[in-house]
Amino acid sequence: MSELQPVSLPEDAPYVNALLLQMLRGVEDVLGTNGLHAVLRASDLSRYINNPPPNNLDSGVEAREYARLNAAIEEFTGRAGKGMLKRIGRSSFRWGIKEQSAVMGLAGIALKALPSRLRKRAILLGLRKGLMDIVEYGLVDVQDVGGVMVYTDYACTICHTRHADHAICHLYAGTLGEAMVYATGKDFRAFDIVETHCKAKGDGYCRFEIRDI
Ligand SMILES: [Zn+2]
Repeated sequence: MSELQPVSLPEDAPYVNALLLQMLRGVEDVLGTNGLHAVLRASDLSRYINNPPPNNLDSGVEAREYARLNAAIEEFTGRAGKGMLKRIGRSSFRWGIKEQSAVMGLAGIALKALPSRLRKRAILLGLRKGLMDIVEYGLVDVQDVGGVMVYTDYACTICHTRHADHAICHLYAGTLGEAMVYATGKDFRAFDIVETHCKAKGDGYCRFEIRDI
């Protein structure tokens, strides 16, 4: 286990415009425009209806807004929430690759020559770099533990200020899954992604284990 320390975020910690925008694009893709507007209203974020944050790296939004939107989607979609959030995470990643490659930290990573295991690691390290470069308090660790990729976010915003008796960062799992698709060219179903620890249930970080099925 890494010796990195949990990051304690103030409740009103800022967040980067481009990352909230990426999520809004994913929500719209999966739930449709009406669905997006419904969850924005439900999470008291109506001001983003037809008025998304700009695609830039300014900290113009709040981490808890990002978290609140996640919670609203879970409530809105009920029992399907986990799957929906994963789909949104996958869609957000794809949009980010197209429209925000510099933000994603993946520009210039040459994958072709690498074996699959190293590709996966390279992409996760790219995501880590992207987040840590643009989010002032970002702290992410990536380990390859015998072929299991372990991705740990010490300052996860999906569950910021939220509480649950189980792990809730399903959107993150979806994004990591799509990152594995990007790395390997395989279908997302080829990967099993489990959030073993989550700040929402009192852990010091959100930790994901990524395995090939
Ligand atoms: Zn979490």
